[in-house]
Amino acid sequence: MVTGARVLASALLATAVFAARASAQQTDALKVFISVDMEGLAGVVTASDVNASGADYAHFRTLMAGEANAGIEGAFNAGATYVLVRDSHGGKQNLLPGDVDARAHLLRGASTGPKNMMEGIDSTFHAVVFIGYHAKAGTPNAILEHTSTGNVVDFSINGVSLPEGGYNALVAGLHGVPVVFVAGDRAVVDQLRGLLGPIRAVAVKQEIADAALGMSPAAARDAIRTGVEEAIRARAQVKPWVMAGPFTMVLKVKAERPLYPGARRTGEGEFTFTSPSLLEVLNAFNAMK
Ligand SMILES: [Zn+2]
Repeated sequence: MVTGARVLASALLATAVFAARASAQQTDALKVFISVDMEGLAGVVTASDVNASGADYAHFRTLMAGEANAGIEGAFNAGATYVLVRDSHGGKQNLLPGDVDARAHLLRGASTGPKNMMEGIDSTFHAVVFIGYHAKAGTPNAILEHTSTGNVVDFSINGVSLPEGGYNALVAGLHGVPVVFVAGDRAVVDQLRGLLGPIRAVAVKQEIADAALGMSPAAARDAIRTGVEEAIRARAQVKPWVMAGPFTMVLKVKAERPLYPGARRTGEGEFTFTSPSLLEVLNAFNAMK
């Protein structure tokens, strides 16, 4: 009995020590998710800048890595223990792996699920950062404004018209993670602050009669590095962006695509779809956009 009790006591002690260690590790972990698009990078002004067939694409993908690396550095300066970078533009193969800060983990390539630009996010992350972002379709005084594809006129959920950064913030919110920082043009910064509140941001450029006036890439990197660090340190001030379900989307498009199961055509180029699942709404959006 005595021996058995000792064994039990020692087993309990070992379990307690293990639990304490696991809890300390959880407390110390700081996981940051960085989604990087291209249209909102400093210097980008036309579609050919961000299209693989464009004459200057090789230059702009290098600048994309530069802004991504500034965000990664800011995150680690703020104490991050793990950084996931999601290449979020087009086919998601713009960031060359060898160009990305070796401390980060790069999620590269198109994915099939509804999360798309947010693929890889889950509830173990503590903060989300957007870099290179752009305003939604139809936004005035914006650079390369669009929503996902050139075909989308407007996309709303429960009456709220959303840019990519808006529904991506909802995906983060679904997992309880706040979006703490955005870099892009003046228009996307204003648009996302209008939805998410006064998050930290860097407007790297602004539209002037369809042209772009902005920071040099080096100045943008400095501002992003500092801004991301400050934003992650102050992350407790920002709440995850959540919307109560069920979710009703209204999607307006230029060219209609086949109906997603359960969706209704509610007007010329207009589709409505309702689900208790936000991700199912995004599946419907992705199928008909
Ligand atoms: Zn893009």
